[in-house]
Amino acid sequence: MEFRCPNCNAPIYSRKNKICGVCEKPLPPKLLLSENQIAFLKKQEDHIEKQAKEFNLPDVSYGSDVGGSSF
Ligand SMILES: [Zn+2]
Repeated sequence: MEFRCPNCNAPIYSRKNKICGVCEKPLPPKLLLSENQIAFLKKQEDHIEKQAKEFNLPDVSYGSDVGGSSF
């Protein structure tokens, strides 16, 4: 679902913004995320970020295994 500014019809990329990024008119509250929704999304983002960090941690045993013994 795409949200558009009722003033200039520009697509709203971030519903966390309270004003339109193009015409800078205030956006109607029904187009915006509620505080709860923002908090929920932020929690999810933090969670994904944390997972990505854990995934990127160098795993020593795996690294040495790939190091050439398979070749
Ligand atoms: Zn606008």
